[in-house]
Amino acid sequence: MPIATVNPADGTTVKTFDPLSADEVEQRLADAEAAFRGYRTTTFEERARLLNAAADLLEREADGVARVMTTEMGKPLAAARAEAAKCVKAMRWYARNAEELLAPEYPAPEDVADSGAERAEVRYRPLGPVLAVMPWNFPLWQVVRFAAPALMAGNVGLLKHASNVPQTALYLGDLFHRAGFAPGCFQTLLVSSGAVEAVLRDPRVVAATLTGSEGAGRAVASVAGDEIKKTVLELGGSDPFVVMPSADVEAAARTAVTARVQNNGQSCIAAKRFLVHTDVFDAFAERFTAGMLGLTVGDPMEPGTDVGPLSGAQGREDLEELVTDALAQGAQALCGGRRPQGLERGFYYEPTVLTGVTAQMRIHREEAFGPVATLYRVADAEEAVTLANDTPFGLSSNVWTRDECEADRFVQDLEAGGVFFNGMTASHPALPFGGVKRSGYGRELAGHGIREFCNATTVWRG
Ligand code: NAP
Repeated sequence: MPIATVNPADGTTVKTFDPLSADEVEQRLADAEAAFRGYRTTTFEERARLLNAAADLLEREADGVARVMTTEMGKPLAAARAEAAKCVKAMRWYARNAEELLAPEYPAPEDVADSGAERAEVRYRPLGPVLAVMPWNFPLWQVVRFAAPALMAGNVGLLKHASNVPQTALYLGDLFHRAGFAPGCFQTLLVSSGAVEAVLRDPRVVAATLTGSEGAGRAVASVAGDEIKKTVLELGGSDPFVVMPSADVEAAARTAVTARVQNNGQSCIAAKRFLVHTDVFDAFAERFTAGMLGLTVGDPMEPGTDVGPLSGAQGREDLEELVTDALAQGAQALCGGRRPQGLERGFYYEPTVLTGVTAQMRIHREEAFGPVATLYRVADAEEAVTLANDTPFGLSSNVWTRDECEADRFVQDLEAGGVFFNGMTASHPALPFGGVKRSGYGRELAGHGIREFCNATTVWRG
């Protein structure tokens, strides 16, 4: 895959980049190791000062970087601006909270005595240079939610970003540098995915985090496993959105539209499968379909656009294959199911709702990475849970109910890293984020995220 900015709104190649040479990669690895030697002992106060400076810069430059993101991967400009603002918030959150999140832990005095110690504690120390392999769909946020905690913990970062967002990738490296972080603390490596293995096997790289597809996760985790290096994997999702009879159906249908088409439908935590109780199925289906039909598909730079293009030609073809397979096997499209007319130059796809989906169809088991919803009728909570869990993925889930007992049952039984009631899944710096099953392992954000790349060191004093 060439490293290039190709505008998905019209298919034009805006700018291409040469990948780094082997010598240039070597220099960056050496710089990362050297930077870590000094940075690892900086105080939380110093790290917070630098990270807040990066947040301030990003806040001032948000509009410019939002335009770059929209040009590179097609999200509506307002969403790109919101993404930049979210990154600013997360940076400030970690700058404010990291010291407390990584404060030494002291076991109970009786346990300390029982271990034979006079004193004992757990200290969270940094690990070293961490490789971050990141996707294009939230090109700023995915990186910042790794970088902010990693830098506050005293680690340094090496970013291998997706090949279609090189300008956002370069902006990030530059941002941390201009904020005052020492050279080598956070660097962008413009390399292809084929170069990742050598970087990961390098002894100076101590761990890796990957957000992306299952295949990429498997490749990176295999190498890391071979090298006995820690990994965090944030992979795909096919989140259920369950609507039970006690729900506010109007609000559920409105939110369902946003939950499905956010980021042009290309979000790991987008609700993708809509499981609706038979008592409210018709009312929900009518409102949901009307909402999907009412969306404006078009140029993501235009203020009125709800849904822009998919990020690339291949992504659209993959999505079309899933829809074609489902329709050929008897599914029905309540709306969409094709490319929109008049937008032939870009990689657009109409917001689509499919019903009559069966377990034999690929879309039942695979992730639909675009604005395509599957709508199922369920008889009761039991069937909703069974269907919700009938997927290889386990990222997050959404349930609409006002019945507390029913809600507890979903928390107990849903195989997912999150259960969001009467709303849609969204990440927040204070809430851990991650999945189970094929959605990956480990957590980002909150205290869980910052501790993933720390050496939890037992200090025992006799
Ligand atoms: P992708 O093709 O897996 O790419 C993600 C990153 O991995 C890119 O930097 C890519 O580099 C790299 N990569 C791909 N194959 C690799 C390999 N064999 N070895 C090393 N690196 C490799 O995923 P995508 O299409 O960009 O993103 C969509 C997927 O990401 C969806 O499945 C989505 O659900 C998932 N995602 C998950 C989360 C989460 O938090 N769980 C968040 C966002 C997205 P190149 O671009 O150079 O190929």
